Amino acid sequence: AVAAMPLLPADVLAAYQFTPEATVRLFGNGHINRTYLIENSIQKLILQQINTQIFPAPQQLVDNALRIEQHLTVKQQQGLYPLQILRQQARQDGHYLSGEQADLRALAFIDGGRSIEVVETPAQAFAAALTFGQFAAALADFPADELHTVIADFHNLGFRFCQLDDAIAANKAGRLVDCQELVNYCQSQRALVTELEQLCADLPRRVCHNDTKINNMLYSDAEGRGIAAIDLDTCMPGYWLFDFGDMVRTCCSPEPEDSLNPAAVRIRPEIFTALAQGYLQGLAGIITAAERQSLWLGAKVMCLMIGIRFLTDHLNGDCYFAVHRPNHNLQRAENQLRLYLDLLAQQDQLQPLLK
Ligand code: ATP
Ligand code: MG
Ligand code: MG
Repeated sequence: AVAAMPLLPADVLAAYQFTPEATVRLFGNGHINRTYLIENSIQKLILQQINTQIFPAPQQLVDNALRIEQHLTVKQQQGLYPLQILRQQARQDGHYLSGEQADLRALAFIDGGRSIEVVETPAQAFAAALTFGQFAAALADFPADELHTVIADFHNLGFRFCQLDDAIAANKAGRLVDCQELVNYCQSQRALVTELEQLCADLPRRVCHNDTKINNMLYSDAEGRGIAAIDLDTCMPGYWLFDFGDMVRTCCSPEPEDSLNPAAVRIRPEIFTALAQGYLQGLAGIITAAERQSLWLGAKVMCLMIGIRFLTDHLNGDCYFAVHRPNHNLQRAENQLRLYLDLLAQQDQLQPLLK
């Protein structure tokens, strides 16, 4: 059972046609926003308190989500893409509540949906990648550059290397001595920055979801089909290689991101294969040959980049990612680099799946 809930003020509930008797509970396993499920005998909805530390301009998230929703709704009417999409429920004066009531926005509860935390089977990986691929495909004719860039430099590898450089120079927490080898290895991979920039110069800019981990899509209860891509907060203009790469990064290891069993952290080839098949099927007829070939670099870049971010935070004294034990960020960084190295080791088998 969830511990005593901070009650939502009656006027917030009233804004969405709930009386104070409605049942309110914390919901899901999100790390960024605070997610509530509110229900009574008539309706259910998701209410989220937007994390304004991470998203200082919540109105931009809401604007992006509305534009995407509009676009996807039209597509759905044409019967092209069977995805059920989040719906913002309007109050009289807008789509979210702000000011003293923090930054709250509501989403229609997608009923009959189920999210999982760990990928266990290739079928789950396939369904997830198909869903994110269909989501991307439905937005392929959306003017990506009209979305707000809600977080600048989010997937800018050069910028992440610069942040690592700064952390090394400052050595604020005095930890450089413990992780010099890992630091050196990351630095030795810097050529990826230019490789990525050159590749991207020839790719179309696309709507990127930017957080394509497994609990950001929903499966249908009954047959495990993907029914929705959710958590649209980081949707921004970008390149599909990042979305594919983040799926590989978050789905392929049998171990959690912060596993204490680094020897078991690896890329499961059968999961990688299922992700490649699902994503390419979702984008069939739309993804260009250059984009297909860029996906491999996306997988490498995402593992390396998130590894660098964890390492940077470790050097800075754990200011960004929440830590629950000593060297937590260092362990996360090591695990990401293991995935990166395992991609390199399996390149001959895996890369051709994307050709
Ligand atoms: P993250 O840590 O991935 O950034 P977050 O804090 O942004 O997560 P969400 O992913 O938006 O939060 O929501 C948290 C969880 O709540 C989801 O994983 C999902 O299980 C559930 N959820 C969110 N929106 C809906 C919805 N519209 N219908 C049903 N379930 C939902
Ligand atoms: Mg989420
Ligand atoms: Mg999120």
